[in-house]
Amino acid sequence: MAILHGWQTCPRCATALEGGEAQLHCPGCDSTYYANSAPCVSALVEDVEGRLLLARRAVEPYLGLWDCPGGFLEEGEDPLDGLRRELAEETGLVAGPARFVGIWMDVYGDASEAAATLNIYWAVQVEEGQPVAADDVAELRWFPAGGLPGPDELAFTTVERALAAWEAERAPHAY
Ligand SMILES: [Zn+2]
Repeated sequence: MAILHGWQTCPRCATALEGGEAQLHCPGCDSTYYANSAPCVSALVEDVEGRLLLARRAVEPYLGLWDCPGGFLEEGEDPLDGLRRELAEETGLVAGPARFVGIWMDVYGDASEAAATLNIYWAVQVEEGQPVAADDVAELRWFPAGGLPGPDELAFTTVERALAAWEAERAPHAY
């Protein structure tokens, strides 16, 4: 697993690259390429009844499994702007104030092509709109806090961890 896996020549000048999986250097044009994790933003969308909105994926990877609305940040994009953009694109919803929940690492794609992802999750209330599934979403459904899909129905291990954190936040404290 490495974003630079298989890179042999410089994409700028086609000189043979030097280095390892963490970074590659081009002796021809002095470019350096770093293998960083890709930042992703995701929304744990809540309604007034305390339910959570999940999106069933209509595309690979993990076609047919449940995911949180979200996606990759664009270059230079503010993370919360990216969160609102992705939520609007995938569900048509306008997000209200966001509450930070956590950051988890994951992998996107298969085997040597897989990219490491850094996934930032916020809980958000819906400010306006009714959820309408976009092209890459097969279905949007509200789930009660105690009745979320099980691990084998979730798209990424990160989603499982984010849902567990969200449910733990909502559980009454034991002390
Ligand atoms: Zn070069």
